[in-house]
Amino acid sequence: MKIGIVGCAGRMGQMLVREVLVTDGCELSGGTERPGHRALGRDLVIASGLDASGLIVQEDTSALFQASDVVIDFTVATITPYHVALAVKFGTNLILGTTGHDESQLSSIKVAAERATIVKAMNFSVGINTLFALTQQLAETLDDGFDIEIVEMHHKHKVDAPSGTAIGLGEVAAKGRGVSLADVARRNRDGIIGERNRGDIGFAVLRGGDVVGEHKVIFAGTSERIELGHIASSRQIFSAGAVRAALWSSHKSPGLYNMLDVLGFGK
Ligand code: NAD
Repeated sequence: MKIGIVGCAGRMGQMLVREVLVTDGCELSGGTERPGHRALGRDLVIASGLDASGLIVQEDTSALFQASDVVIDFTVATITPYHVALAVKFGTNLILGTTGHDESQLSSIKVAAERATIVKAMNFSVGINTLFALTQQLAETLDDGFDIEIVEMHHKHKVDAPSGTAIGLGEVAAKGRGVSLADVARRNRDGIIGERNRGDIGFAVLRGGDVVGEHKVIFAGTSERIELGHIASSRQIFSAGAVRAALWSSHKSPGLYNMLDVLGFGK
């Protein structure tokens, strides 16, 4: 499968280049960068660790889509409408990891997915998506006699809290219980706050050091407790998941898919 990488000099772009080069069944068809980027004209493998790819960073995104079976896009949301249009024009599958889309950009993705195969995920980690599926399944199975608490830890530079992934875990837990997270979330506990309400979903946040990302979902019952957890030690989990999604997308009909579909949880 011929895989192209847009934004190939970015943090995720370079991880994706490496992932494609070391994955069986994948052939790197090229990579592009935005006009004026200093990587233009250089080999696709910029940092050390792998031999040169023999391919040069290009500016022509249209040619990349034409030359690829799949294009992987971890860039910026503003360029997504152009990329989905190219996916339709050339029948190229698109793996979309870029985040932060507004309503009009999301709408362009939905429209394009009527004629192109697109896999879009806020988080391409196989482990995190498995944790999402298991959390929903447990929340469906256990009644609110089991108190749900979500604990996350990230590095000291992270500015938002709880993490988007922690909130996502709360959302699937609430979905499993058939309630809205907004009605049951308890985020800031401090001082004399009274007893825990039955059915609440609590969040606790830790920050420190260089922790890439840790999430734990606790179902605390009477005399027993179930804990599901995920520890990320590298952003490589996102590139591995995206390349897995690229391989999965081969021969899939046009449509908008997510990582749960790729893992078989979306049925
Ligand atoms: P980054 O800034 O390091 O890389 C983005 C790259 O895209 C840059 O090299 C930039 O020059 C390039 N780019 C911008 N416009 C372009 C254009 N028109 N054509 C070609 N290249 C262009 O950012 P990053 O940390 O790699 O993250 C990129 C995106 O991926 C962000 O939206 C981030 O939130 C998202 N992300 C998603 C996941 C996931 O699992 N879905 C994981 C990590 C990051």
